[in-house]
Amino acid sequence: MDIKQLDCRSNPAFDHHEGVYLARDARSGLEAIIAVHSTNLGPAAGGCRRWSYGDRESAVTDALRLSRGMSYKNAMAGLPFGGGKAVLLAQPGQAPTRQEFEAFGRFVHTLSGRYVTAEDVGVSTENMRVVRERTPYVSGLPQEGEAAGGDPSPWTALGVFLSLQRAVAPIDVAELTVAVQGVGHVGYHLCKLLHEAGANLIVSDIHPASTARAAEEFGARVVPVDQILSVEADVLAPCALGGAINERSIPGLKARLIAGAANNQLATERDALRLHERGILLLPDYVINAGGIIAVAREYLGGSTRQDLVREVGLIPGRVAELLELSKQTSQPPSVVADRTAQRLIDRVPGATGADASVGGPAPVDNDAAAGHEA
Ligand code: NAD
Repeated sequence: MDIKQLDCRSNPAFDHHEGVYLARDARSGLEAIIAVHSTNLGPAAGGCRRWSYGDRESAVTDALRLSRGMSYKNAMAGLPFGGGKAVLLAQPGQAPTRQEFEAFGRFVHTLSGRYVTAEDVGVSTENMRVVRERTPYVSGLPQEGEAAGGDPSPWTALGVFLSLQRAVAPIDVAELTVAVQGVGHVGYHLCKLLHEAGANLIVSDIHPASTARAAEEFGARVVPVDQILSVEADVLAPCALGGAINERSIPGLKARLIAGAANNQLATERDALRLHERGILLLPDYVINAGGIIAVAREYLGGSTRQDLVREVGLIPGRVAELLELSKQTSQPPSVVADRTAQRLIDRVPGATGADASVGGPAPVDNDAAAGHEA
């Protein structure tokens, strides 16, 4: 495997990242990037996304933005982790392979615990199980009984749902129409919670099978992908990829509240002001979608139960309420207030490396291949 450090200083998404690494493995076909944004609060934790990017620069930009978001997310969730993210560059229509994730596990292992991986878009619990054969620096693995962890998406959906519920109170969720963009792992679970609470659902996805399931199980109305953002609804829940809220989509938005799971929903910081000017409230994505990383982090650190997770994810709406109050007091968009708060939390521990891989975490894998000897 060929691994090199990338110099990303000229990329507009670069934000003093501690390190950005590119791995290429001819045998498995793996091409992957790991971006470590900050280890100030602990090892850089963040999921692994597998996506067909048009070019490598787009993948690097995504990794830079997502890893910074993870620093903010982990800080706001009060977790002893910094921020990092991995992206795997897939060819269009190319299915993931076992060899690819074995190689990715070896890549993760070369960072000696400075980065801890888990699932994100396009990656399954089963993929993470393969990664675990090559490195202990992975979470989001199947768990037995009441142990915390496993698939993070239901926990992500729970945090989003509770935050949405808190933001609309005293209006009951049952009185709402919610438009959900993307009914994959998190979107599906969010629809389930909303449906159980009596909400009316409108959904859209590039995969017809996903929308068909939401229609059948939750009575959701299906609209084409180019209509979901501007459909008549009380709440918009972006649960696909980032950048859905942008200069082009904002003028057409009908929903007064945006509360979804997708990372980096705002294409640019200017879009936060555009929303503010239109009187549309966006609940900061990395604050309300932290349920998954909380589950993954508690699994990695060990000793927590599902009941503990319910309690910890239940704290998210309180944080959202505080941010909204601060936003009102300062007349700043909630996302701006959240960014400042998160940055302060990260900077509060100057010089703490946190990169010590011994901060919790499972025992090393008993596997020669985990030594990353090919890297
Ligand atoms: P996923 O891949 O399971 O689901 C994403 C869905 O969006 C897929 O069904 C895909 O077909 C659909 N999609 C893609 N482009 C679309 C478009 N233009 N219009 C409509 N649908 C589109 O991923 P996921 O794990 O559910 O994650 C969804 C989002 O939430 C991502 O942005 C992810 O980073 C974020 N997130 C996920 C978690 C988690 O626990 N999985 C945690 C925090 C944040």
